[in-house]
Amino acid sequence: MTIRPLPAPAGRPPAGRPIAEPLVAEPLVAALDVGGTMIKAGLVGSDGTVHHSERHPTGVRRGPDAVIEAILGVAHGLARRAPVRGIGLGVPGIVDSAAGIARYAANLGWRDVPFARLLTQRLGLPAVLGHDVRNGALAEARLGAGAGIPSVYFLAIGTGVAGGQVSGGVVDDGASGQAGEIGHLVVRPRGPRCNCGNRGCLEAIASASRIAAAYRRRARTRGSAADVARLVDDGDPTARAVWAEAIAALADALAAQIVLADPGCIVIGGGLSLAGPTLFDPLRAALPQRLTFREPPPIRPAVLGDRAGMVGAALRAWDVLL
Ligand SMILES: [Zn+2]
Repeated sequence: MTIRPLPAPAGRPPAGRPIAEPLVAEPLVAALDVGGTMIKAGLVGSDGTVHHSERHPTGVRRGPDAVIEAILGVAHGLARRAPVRGIGLGVPGIVDSAAGIARYAANLGWRDVPFARLLTQRLGLPAVLGHDVRNGALAEARLGAGAGIPSVYFLAIGTGVAGGQVSGGVVDDGASGQAGEIGHLVVRPRGPRCNCGNRGCLEAIASASRIAAAYRRRARTRGSAADVARLVDDGDPTARAVWAEAIAALADALAAQIVLADPGCIVIGGGLSLAGPTLFDPLRAALPQRLTFREPPPIRPAVLGDRAGMVGAALRAWDVLL
């Protein structure tokens, strides 16, 4: 990718408008995906092609106001690189996309941040807000592992567990921006306490952080979820027991999702999906016994990696702009 040098300006640009030359001939949006540690950002065409990408620290320790300012600053920087049509932003937590307001995010510490309005005020461009995982779901369903399938369920397993149902190319946000919280589906009523206050949520058993914690507690040794996956392959009995409990919990939750939504494909992303066949093989094997009257849909690994959220933020913006 090359960036053409700026020609000598014929006059001063309009106040408040970015100074930039086209990066590529096609129109672009600036897309940002805000995570707990990094803001993944880029310039994305209407077909989802990423023409430029960059990463910035989220800087959670500096407090919510500094994080909000960092997001606005990254968006501003992108809009100066190229003339963009609008902004797509994805954030975690409870997200009211219709109102453009990030209602709440536990790990980022904010409440009721009107991101769409703040971005439009700062940049003079239309801005579209979405939920990070549901944005990822949209990207994987349209352009990734679910491409060509009309109904796709995307499950992201990392520090937390969340998902998104995409039907006819549209992701379901729910009435209050809380659809897809499969991580808080209770699969073990007397199970371990979840961060939400309930007991036996899927996330309290099968998230990468809880798999690692369960192994550390039982084996009395350190290890990440990736370490546990490796130990499963090595035949470590404690790792195998912890892993089997997580697989069973995931299979129970996915069986519920399959019965309720009838997806044509399930796509699994997030850090735990990197365990590959150690995750996918037993999960695929566990579903038929839970689905007595129907076949389970195929379960595929996500293909867009950690760019899915950014690409999905762009697709959401394009859906509004076009
Ligand atoms: Zn919970």
